[in-house]
Amino acid sequence: MTRFDTMVMVDWSGGNDTGPRPRKDAIWAAVIRDGQAESPVYLRNRPLAESWLAELFAAELAASRRVLAGFDFPFGYPAGFARALTGSDDPLALWDWFAQHLEDTPNANNRFALAGQINALFPGIGPFWFNGTATDVSDLPRKGTDRVDHGLPERRAVEIRAKGSFTCWQMGGHGAVGGQVMTGISTLSRLKQQFEGALSVWPFQALDAPISLIEVWPSLLAGQVNAEASEAEVRDATQVRVLARAMWQMQVDETLGDALTAGREGSEEGWILGVGAEDTLRRAAKAAPPLRNDCFALPPGVDWTPVDTALSHLRDNLDPVTGTETIPVADACTRILAADQFARRANPPAPNSAVDGYGFAHGSLPVGATEVPLQPGRAAAGAAYEGVVQPAHALRILTGAILPEGVDTVVLEEDVSVEDQTLFLPGMLKSGSNTRAAGEDLEAGAMALSEGRRLTPADLALLSAVGISEVPVRYRLRVGVLSTGDELAAPNATDDPARTYDANRPMLLALLARFGHAPVDLGHVGDNRTTLHNKLDRSAPDVDAILTSGGASAGDEDHVSALLKATGTLNHWRIAVKPGRPLALGHWQNKPVFGLPGNPVAALVCTLIFARPALERLAGGTWSDPQGFNVPAAFEKRKKPGRREYLRARIDAQGHAEVFASEGSGRISGLSWADGLVELEDGARHVRPGDPVRYIPFASFGF
Ligand code: AMP
Ligand code: MG
Repeated sequence: MTRFDTMVMVDWSGGNDTGPRPRKDAIWAAVIRDGQAESPVYLRNRPLAESWLAELFAAELAASRRVLAGFDFPFGYPAGFARALTGSDDPLALWDWFAQHLEDTPNANNRFALAGQINALFPGIGPFWFNGTATDVSDLPRKGTDRVDHGLPERRAVEIRAKGSFTCWQMGGHGAVGGQVMTGISTLSRLKQQFEGALSVWPFQALDAPISLIEVWPSLLAGQVNAEASEAEVRDATQVRVLARAMWQMQVDETLGDALTAGREGSEEGWILGVGAEDTLRRAAKAAPPLRNDCFALPPGVDWTPVDTALSHLRDNLDPVTGTETIPVADACTRILAADQFARRANPPAPNSAVDGYGFAHGSLPVGATEVPLQPGRAAAGAAYEGVVQPAHALRILTGAILPEGVDTVVLEEDVSVEDQTLFLPGMLKSGSNTRAAGEDLEAGAMALSEGRRLTPADLALLSAVGISEVPVRYRLRVGVLSTGDELAAPNATDDPARTYDANRPMLLALLARFGHAPVDLGHVGDNRTTLHNKLDRSAPDVDAILTSGGASAGDEDHVSALLKATGTLNHWRIAVKPGRPLALGHWQNKPVFGLPGNPVAALVCTLIFARPALERLAGGTWSDPQGFNVPAAFEKRKKPGRREYLRARIDAQGHAEVFASEGSGRISGLSWADGLVELEDGARHVRPGDPVRYIPFASFGF
């Protein structure tokens, strides 16, 4: 079976246009391209969905990419129906029949009338039933039990195996699919004509065209959908997202071909992909997406790769590898959002007062100084004033109180005086003063935060304010840290001057925790290839990525390099950067391994510059470049061209960047002395005191 480059899973709807705000029971689609999932797309009505699909297909075709498109409605009817209606057993003739006879607009269609007309062609009563309208439709019974002797099977063969599925005959009612089938196959019939020859329909046709359509059923993955469900994501969106990921993973697991073959049983009735292969499908839905095997391959032929080239390569080639779970917002600080979040309600939800004072209708009072009678009562936050404030009257109002009817403007209590239930207003303010409009911060349905965001304390406030109490987040990335080298010993374990105390491991473990990952201490191994091999074998299943330090060069004792090389995934990164030695990047059992230099200064800089953004991508976060600032230098330095340099630096009392006295890469004390790094660009540079240099505080690295 040839590989699909892009998959799109669609949750169809036979209902009417439900408006611009994303909601359930409308059409949702999830795209996954080269293993990279995109946020589910909300398509408010069928014409929009049809043109969206046509554009997607055309773009993928133009790029010579193969597409697998899944739809959650039956592609066929129970056996015998096609022949009875069209004179042919070809289910695709049925598609065209419906495309010709169904009148469909975003807000109405003739599906009930059409169902009745079809029924009239059959003996007895039925097979279609259900009428959602008050007026009777001729030949369309309201109850399924009213049907007799129409001569057609009640279910397709696949529906007998798919427990809980609805029949094609039921034209409405909760969960029914009758309307979806008619509207769905009509739409697909038009797309089939538009992409003639480039599109094939499973299981009726061989899947050798660039675009393949399959029938899917999200309920097969209800368990996983429930596990990932959250009130912050419309369930239909979760469904298509999970389905798309599962289909992609089946392709990776090489089980998709068998599942497609199983559909041959479907004959003219069609088949649901995954029925007969439920376990493989469910297992696939649980799996984290795989790494791309070329994700660390730098452009060939470059001797020393510039830092920016290496970084943009990582940015473009790394995808999230973590699964998702739904947790309370209160527990979600530093976790990464797994889906865009939309305001469930506006903030503020209703117009309210921004101050303590007195409210009135602006238009009911004169422009100059005036006296206004106070109405009894008051409006306070959480205790709305139920009555109406009369024109030319005012009411006591407190901060946060909803503006009562008759109030559009509030005067600050410090600006007025009150005596005997009369308010003295020294002059008129602007209409609407001291009030907050509903939704002025965020409208209901507006995007509050986007997928990939690592949540901050302020984000928890925002999510809570717009009514989101649970969020889908990525599991924390589990990152193993392993030190290598015969010379290493635990701090203070020996006084032998030939031994080096292991300084990298505590540093890297602490850094990873600061980044928001789950550090896993893998300990230390000596310079022995078998031991290292066993260590990696035992550790890989328990982590999502591995950082090693030491042994990453190409020397005799550089066993990390040697082992990764044997897996065929090693890329030796010779980056034009100081400090830095070659980095060894590769995979062990499909887990990314970052082989860092042993020298602690180089290990730290390489982690901050390369491993940090790469791990963030693997964890599901968005790519971010560290924030730097231009500040005057407090030092002088002549720098040669050809590589980027990072100097240990801090800001002195004058606000200038000073650098550590020694650039020696063994000087760990300089790392502690520093508050950040000065970044000197790749070209030659003569920095004189007072010249602007780019200073990146350690805080910009989440340090
Ligand atoms: P390597 O990259 O293995 O050639 O090591 C380069 C230098 O870093 C050597 O001097 C090592 O002893 C030192 N080194 C390696 N790993 C560590 C570590 N975990 N802590 C401190 N120094 C280390
Ligand atoms: Mg070593």
